[in-house]
Amino acid sequence: MANSCLFCRIARHEIPSTVVAEDERLMAFRDVHPQAPTHILIIPKAHVDSLNDVGEFDLVGRMTRMAVAIAEQEGIARRGYRTVINTNADGGQTVFHLHLHLLGGRSLGWPPG
Ligand code: 5GP
Ligand code: ZN
Repeated sequence: MANSCLFCRIARHEIPSTVVAEDERLMAFRDVHPQAPTHILIIPKAHVDSLNDVGEFDLVGRMTRMAVAIAEQEGIARRGYRTVINTNADGGQTVFHLHLHLLGGRSLGWPPG
């Protein structure tokens, strides 16, 4: 499963992506179909299917902290941005490797569809 998983393959650099940040546990890269001027995905390098399968307390905190650092780097922190984790069918998840969306660079509507 992890072998053929798209985001595991991106994490192993087997599939090219535009990497914006990386540390020992996480990787951040630009979404291939951006929904905003800044649209970056932050993933754990180790495979986790979805938010439902996160078995520890600090992983999502680390992912969020990396999103904030990237928002600062991208120059969108002050005006604002959105962080989103879609989970399973009703949440709109299409890639079943946990990822946090960082969206910004334009005014975003609410509520989401
Ligand atoms: P989800 O709908 O699961 O929350 O988000 C999956 C995201 O992954 C989508 O925004 C989609 O555009 C992005 N995505 C799908 N395949 C690729 C890919 O091969 N490379 C990159 N960089 N993003 C991808
Ligand atoms: Zn994976």
